[in-house]
Amino acid sequence: MKQFDVVIIGGGPSGTSTGTMLVKSGFSTLIIDKHTFPRKKLCAGGVTPQAKKLYDQIFGEGSYTFSDTTDKFKIYFMEKFILNGDDFYTLNFVRREVFDNQLLTRYKELGGQTIEGKKAIKFDLENNVVTLEDGEQIGYKVLVGADGATSLVRKLFNKDYKPNIFCMETYPKNTLDCHSVSLYAGLGGGYGWIFPHGDSVAVGYCGPTSRSKQNCDEFEDFIKLTGFSSEGCDIRGAYIPTEPVEVPCYKNVLLVGDAGGFVFPFTGEGLCFAPYTAMRASETITAYLGGQIALEDLPVKYKESLQKIYKIGHDFNELIKRFGKKKFLVRVIKSRLIRGIGLRYCRRHPDFVNYVIQEALDGDFSLKSIRKKFKAQKKANKKK
Ligand SMILES: Cc1cc2nc3c(=O)[nH]c(=O)nc-3n(C[C@H](O)[C@H](O)[C@H](O)COP(=O)(O)OP(=O)(O)OC[C@H]3O[C@@H](n4cnc5c(N)ncnc54)[C@H](O)[C@@H]3O)c2cc1C
Repeated sequence: MKQFDVVIIGGGPSGTSTGTMLVKSGFSTLIIDKHTFPRKKLCAGGVTPQAKKLYDQIFGEGSYTFSDTTDKFKIYFMEKFILNGDDFYTLNFVRREVFDNQLLTRYKELGGQTIEGKKAIKFDLENNVVTLEDGEQIGYKVLVGADGATSLVRKLFNKDYKPNIFCMETYPKNTLDCHSVSLYAGLGGGYGWIFPHGDSVAVGYCGPTSRSKQNCDEFEDFIKLTGFSSEGCDIRGAYIPTEPVEVPCYKNVLLVGDAGGFVFPFTGEGLCFAPYTAMRASETITAYLGGQIALEDLPVKYKESLQKIYKIGHDFNELIKRFGKKKFLVRVIKSRLIRGIGLRYCRRHPDFVNYVIQEALDGDFSLKSIRKKFKAQKKANKKK
């Protein structure tokens, strides 16, 4: 039986980031993926500046390519245009089929090993052995679950966890020569987007998993609203888990990326938390294999290293819960008159709306605290 220091299930961004960090630290590492790369992955491929910084740090600048780049944003409330959010954020775009393969190739160049096209189906946590679909068995000292939103590894110790967001997406030709981002809030139960990818665009729509059926129906209407034609295009659905799991590590098994529910809850962005959790996991594993952390302390140490993500998840859930309880407030917001006033306010105060979005992207979801900071910043700017 082959034996590795670390076996990683899943060759997406979180798996290759973990593998690359560990290979660089000198550990024998194996990535197992059920697909042979390049493989397709449903994703809008938006890479924020924070995410780019992490990928550059792990894989080196220039080791992957972008299909488009923009700092132009259009924000809509249903079909109504609210504001242009230009110049406040630069977003790069990757085609996942290409990007994931580029990261995996870099990992292999550095000496990492892979088994592609074989599913891991059984995990013996007592004897540290993974069994593949063809019966092959592989031993490990540490196992990493980087197997995405419907992770099998996660099920070993988070049995009841279910991804909370369901998305639909398709990639029509860029017939409208669109090279900006459009975000649509207030649709049914979720939000929609158009992300540019050079000669094509990603048109997607997401909402709570409990509304999967409605999301599918509403998606057709949303495509029509965008002006793109999905004729002849593949329309597919996938989950995004935006709630961090209660237990991200059990004994010597760690979860990274979507497998751990590590996705920014406000936007559904997982391409940043994938390398972030991979970094924290590889640091923890390095300390464990180097004898600085005992096996029984591994779960606590790993969860501690992810406090930033758990805090964001907690604050966002609290906000949603509080909002959900105020049924009267929800009814008021749904009223046409109040929505009209709200839209007019947003158009008249684009600076404030941009500030709210930026602060929320940094993990602050309290309107009270954001307003306080905004006022203080305005005062400081005036003094200057
Ligand atoms: C429609 C949609 C749009 C999105 N848009 C964005 C966006 O614009 N920006 C952003 O930041 N995030 C976006 N996301 C989220 C992002 O795609 C994920 O957060 C990201 O892919 C997580 O990477 P990962 O490596 O953890 O998992 P994945 O990329 O899902 O990789 C998991 C891998 O594990 C393999 N695997 C699974 N089970 C097994 C098994 N048993 N044995 C072997 N291999 C296995 C799979 O084949 C896969 O290759 C989007 C998601 C969706 C669904």
